[in-house]
Amino acid sequence: METCAFCEIVAGRAAASVVFGDDDVLVILDRHPATPGHVLVIPRAHVAGLAEAGDAIGGPIWRAARRVAAALRASGLRCEGVRLSLADGEAAG
Ligand SMILES: [Zn+2]
Repeated sequence: METCAFCEIVAGRAAASVVFGDDDVLVILDRHPATPGHVLVIPRAHVAGLAEAGDAIGGPIWRAARRVAAALRASGLRCEGVRLSLADGEAAG
């Protein structure tokens, strides 16, 4: 079975800079940030793709994204806007 990098982070077996976490999601700094403040919102439960993710995880991901976006705007980092993107599958990044 192939190891999932995100599940390793959620389990605490791989290092990550966690900026927010709750029962459903973790928000971590991207290892190769496109911009300062580039973070990833990852569900705690493993999902291999969007088709596999149930509707129930959408709300927690959205709440975490909004919370972190507000924190970025208040952080003192230059932040004139926030972009959200969703990568479904390895080929999507
Ligand atoms: Zn996983």
